[in-house]
Amino acid sequence: MPSMPHRIDASEFEIERFPKGAIEHCFIRLFALPGWGAVEVPVVVARGRNPGPLLFTVAGIHGNEYEGMEAARHVIAELDPATMRGAFAVVLTANPFAYASRTRETPASVDGLNLARVFPGAPDGAPTHQLAATLLALVERTVGPEDLLLDLHSGTAEVAFATMVGYRSVEGAGRGRPEEAARHMGLPLLWEIPDAPGPLNAETARRSIPTIGAETTGRAGCRMDDVASYRQGLRNLLAWMGICPGWPMPVRDDRKAQTTVDLLAPTTGFLRVETELLAPVAEGERIGVVLDPFGNPLAEVHSPVGGAIWAARETPYVDAGDLIFMIGVA
Ligand SMILES: [Zn+2]
Repeated sequence: MPSMPHRIDASEFEIERFPKGAIEHCFIRLFALPGWGAVEVPVVVARGRNPGPLLFTVAGIHGNEYEGMEAARHVIAELDPATMRGAFAVVLTANPFAYASRTRETPASVDGLNLARVFPGAPDGAPTHQLAATLLALVERTVGPEDLLLDLHSGTAEVAFATMVGYRSVEGAGRGRPEEAARHMGLPLLWEIPDAPGPLNAETARRSIPTIGAETTGRAGCRMDDVASYRQGLRNLLAWMGICPGWPMPVRDDRKAQTTVDLLAPTTGFLRVETELLAPVAEGERIGVVLDPFGNPLAEVHSPVGGAIWAARETPYVDAGDLIFMIGVA
């Protein structure tokens, strides 16, 4: 049985300090905030008896993306640390402000920022910047080139995503490892993530930490099918990395990884979606139209590329510039 949660400072967190052959629960104190107190994140560390790599998983960078948290809890319950090599560590709710307010982003009462847009953060910045800086420092100290960082996300409350695993290229000793990890996680779509400033997984990749990230439906829910996909994906990674030697080895996904293109709402209005998640789309094909309240067309939405719908707007009223589709490029 895991021990009762204990509290440690982020500066004290080292996998080697956790007992071998055991599963430990703890709260890591990242920093203190006037009016809030200690800002802490719940972490589980399952450490095997024998040496081996670390799978470090971060869930809840967005507070209402629940599938990763649930999948991790299921997998932790299935572990036998006596037979494990290396370790499996999970940050269950990486943005405690957003988790408490059931929102994707830190609530406006704190600073209203999106944690996945402010990495690498700043130790003396707004609370979300401090959160980013302390989380990144923790990961940097803990995850080496033989290890793997997995950043688990979900679609937003308005836009549903297909289930996918993505990787970013890294330089150095871990080169090639993210792509191989993604190819063994076993999710339905394989994504070469375009570089963008702000996400944890972009900053860790820039620091040569082998990094993959995943997306699933989301919509601020927690669908059982999606939890099951992430649970199986975590099991596949733990088997592939040799952390859980008795678990079945996953089959390598040899398909070509796909890049993606985001489509933003051309104007404000009611978006009539004329396609659906995973549907194929031709270059130039009309996939939606923005209407005024009477149904008069204000703007058509055409796909700039051929491919398939990897994310689609489900909440129809949109503001100009909102994400409405993500196309997986064929
Ligand atoms: Zn997210």
